[in-house]
Amino acid sequence: MLKEFDLKKDIKLDFTSGWSYDPAPESTDHVHIKDQYDHFIGGKFVAPQGGQYFDTTNPANEKKLASVAMGCDKDVDAAVKAARTAYDKYWSKMSPRDRGRYIYRIARMIQERAREFAVIETLDGGKPIRESRDVDVPLVAAYFFYYAGWADKLQYAFPGGNPKPLGVAGQIIPWNFPLLMAAWKIAPALATGNTVVLKPAETTPLTSLKLAEIIQEADLPPGVVNIVTGAGDTGASIVNHPNVDKIAFTGSTNVGKIIQKSIAGTNKKLTLELGGKAANIIFDDATIDQAVEGIINGIFFNQGHVCCAGSRLFVQEGVADIIRDKLIDRMQSLIVGDPMDKNTDIGAINSKEQLGTIQRYLEIGLNEGNEIYQTKCDLPDKGYWCCPTLVANVSQSSRLVQEEIFGPVLTIQTFRTPEEVLEKANNTPYGLSGGVWTDKGSKIFNMTNKVRAGVMWANTFNKFDPTSPFGGYKESGLGREGGLHGLYPYLKF
Ligand code: ADP
Repeated sequence: MLKEFDLKKDIKLDFTSGWSYDPAPESTDHVHIKDQYDHFIGGKFVAPQGGQYFDTTNPANEKKLASVAMGCDKDVDAAVKAARTAYDKYWSKMSPRDRGRYIYRIARMIQERAREFAVIETLDGGKPIRESRDVDVPLVAAYFFYYAGWADKLQYAFPGGNPKPLGVAGQIIPWNFPLLMAAWKIAPALATGNTVVLKPAETTPLTSLKLAEIIQEADLPPGVVNIVTGAGDTGASIVNHPNVDKIAFTGSTNVGKIIQKSIAGTNKKLTLELGGKAANIIFDDATIDQAVEGIINGIFFNQGHVCCAGSRLFVQEGVADIIRDKLIDRMQSLIVGDPMDKNTDIGAINSKEQLGTIQRYLEIGLNEGNEIYQTKCDLPDKGYWCCPTLVANVSQSSRLVQEEIFGPVLTIQTFRTPEEVLEKANNTPYGLSGGVWTDKGSKIFNMTNKVRAGVMWANTFNKFDPTSPFGGYKESGLGREGGLHGLYPYLKF
């Protein structure tokens, strides 16, 4: 059985029974979602050649939002042809400065329609509106602005290198940061002079399709950006298309491996941003309250739907009890529910399938004999939900410590020495991100050099910036996105 926290014993401040915020729902009046969306190919919205559509639903109430075109091989072929024509005819011939101007225009239009994007992201994906509004959409604009700036400065990024675009980039993205992942993919590809065929995830296609409307309004030459919707088969069709020069994929490690095998022996360039199992390491000289907030931010906000989520907590023994108590207090105060409410901390799990995955992991944890605690929360009748969950008494070999769960589930382990925690932190198949909390700069440098992760945060967690590269080691992927490093995979020298 999953245990609920014992309120009397565990909770110093019981927010759940004392008071609560009045509802503060974000309005949807200014948002227009069409009943049906087609592919965006060659600058126009075109019906799928197979004639099929699928539903995209709101995971917070299970209501259908729109029908979306199901892409088949012929649609992908049309999109790749449009991208190739646009590359040969317009984009590769245009001056870098003019390419940059188009990207700046997209960035500004995203800012102008920021609320609309935030609301659609939340309706389609289930993440809290506060997150979409304050994190996702501002970062989307920031990535477009940042890469727009590089468009006419590539010779300074790679002095003496004479960089050239690759041609057509096939880009496949997941459902956890739908619009932000589209920005991470499209902005550097365009800035380096490539054209694009992008496929959003099947559960969150709507913001990419809204972005297509902006791209149309921005008057980008037809075919520079093409968006084909669909599921795994549509993605595979992009990966296997012979006229695609580069694949950029963000998603699960399993699919990443399939893609790597499919393109082995071809000339296609590849970047993979895959799973993670970040260690969040708290030393006994850390600022405790700040660290607790960092732990919460690292795993619970955005429902743990973050590949770099701080899903493994390591606490030095001297502060283990106080951290645990404060963490439980804070977990109890998290508001789980309607993602459109501005007070909500934890929204809906993105899909029924993902909720099933999380629940299966909790069962595995119980069978392994772990102690699993969940906060008590009033959940809506419909939709997919998971209350914040803490897994204690867990061993290093537990599947909950080793495998990516992609939900609001935090394992907690203790350690005595830096050597011990390093050993444990590095003992997973992943190497995407991690965090270290300490008062000592020397300890920060020691740990961040030795934890085998592409991204390390010190005394903070889950902070993003367009100028910083992001990417992993081991089964977390290949290549870097973001920053100057993010230009490189789209260029040949
Ligand atoms: P998750 O488990 O996070 O849903 P997936 O790796 O299954 O991640 O999905 C990420 C993206 O990859 C989605 O857009 C999905 O449609 C796409 N996808 C799934 N299977 C394949 C495949 N075999 N080839 C290419 N893309 C795929």
